[in-house]
Amino acid sequence: MRSKYAKQVVEKLKHNYEGEQEYLQAIEELVDYSQLERSLNERFVGDNVLERLLLPDRVISFKVPWVDDDGNVQVNQGWRVQHSNLIGPYKGGLRFHPTVTESVLKFLALEQTFKNALTGLSIGGAKGGSNFDPKGKSEREIMRFCQAFMDELFRHIGPNTDVPAGDINVGTREIGFLFGRFRRLQNQFTGVITGKDTEFGGSPARIESTGYGVLFFAERALQTQGSSLQDKTICISGAGNVALHAAQKAIALGAKVLTLSNSKGCLHTDKGLNESQLEQLLQAQHSPNLEAFANEHNLNWQQDKKPWQIACDIAIPCATQNELTGDDAIQLIENKVQWIFEGANMPCDAEAIKCFRESRVTFAPAKAVNAGGVAVSLFEMGQNASFSSHSFEELEQRLKETMYEIHDNCLSDGSNDYLQGANSFAFNRLVQARILQGI
Ligand code: GLU
Repeated sequence: MRSKYAKQVVEKLKHNYEGEQEYLQAIEELVDYSQLERSLNERFVGDNVLERLLLPDRVISFKVPWVDDDGNVQVNQGWRVQHSNLIGPYKGGLRFHPTVTESVLKFLALEQTFKNALTGLSIGGAKGGSNFDPKGKSEREIMRFCQAFMDELFRHIGPNTDVPAGDINVGTREIGFLFGRFRRLQNQFTGVITGKDTEFGGSPARIESTGYGVLFFAERALQTQGSSLQDKTICISGAGNVALHAAQKAIALGAKVLTLSNSKGCLHTDKGLNESQLEQLLQAQHSPNLEAFANEHNLNWQQDKKPWQIACDIAIPCATQNELTGDDAIQLIENKVQWIFEGANMPCDAEAIKCFRESRVTFAPAKAVNAGGVAVSLFEMGQNASFSSHSFEELEQRLKETMYEIHDNCLSDGSNDYLQGANSFAFNRLVQARILQGI
């Protein structure tokens, strides 16, 4: 139930940011599914803490002119949304995709702030990117775009100010181009960006961390319910970094991965993918061609289908925001799904979340489940600041411990409700920091 104060704040933001659908959706979710009333003391209301926590500190918007292979000048829009540095430097990925808008980045930066607070570590929240579409672009075009993007971004970031990382379509290659430009522009070799190649300060487990973290979280959640991942059937959507590493760890932990997908359709196998198939998919740089892979390995290919009509114990949406709708949720529930772990950021729409919660399916939100990536990013920052390095095994162990801790943080309010628990834990930390640092 919303208090009068929370209602007023949400109404004002809805009015001021009308049309920013994703940002408003994230606000509604945060306000509805957290125990805000616990924080509702005089100070919280009097200092208008809620509105100050929901609004980004600043939105930086800039043009990105770059030259394509034919010598034509193209222009894209770039943004960096610095949401909050209350508990640590601004931190969050960069996304290059035609669906990127200011509203999408504001929602992602808000979510990132809560995700980062939930880790219990010192990390603020931000997000950035561009509506640039790397599909069909040559490597040189992508390089020139990254350099042009950094030509503006560099003045807003720094190892203690704001530390970007990768996200959709921004992987090790793009991070290398971005880092190289920053280094030359500033004549500085610092941990200003994470997800770097291990040859120049990257952390050996950063690529795997988000996907592996999803499975460590799932492992802990199932353990808590007296179950295990052994022989569980899992439907995963997506075929990018998060989806493939989640699938790889799921197989290693004894589960059966039935699906992967992309914008064209869904790959499906009742037998479950095996380790060597996953290895091959991971070797295909920059998104594998799933349809060709399915044909080659005699797997089913379902054109224009999503994985959610296939019966499974666990669903892990790892593609993009709002990919799993209310209808998909109903289908999964009819097929007796028991656990939903959000691998991508906000992949379930508001209707789907409502359906899962009403049906007693265990639903765990992205801000908890996919926080492994940013946690390992912080380890990379520490490594860069102290000019030290860690082994893959050491980092994987730290990742597992962090995911277990995030899991337990979600349950620390005693509600046994991951969404409410995650929001409440993060809110509490941020509210405390807000109040202690004054107005
Ligand atoms: N893009 C990732 C996320 O959504 C990682 C961010 C980071 O490492 O800063 O959490």
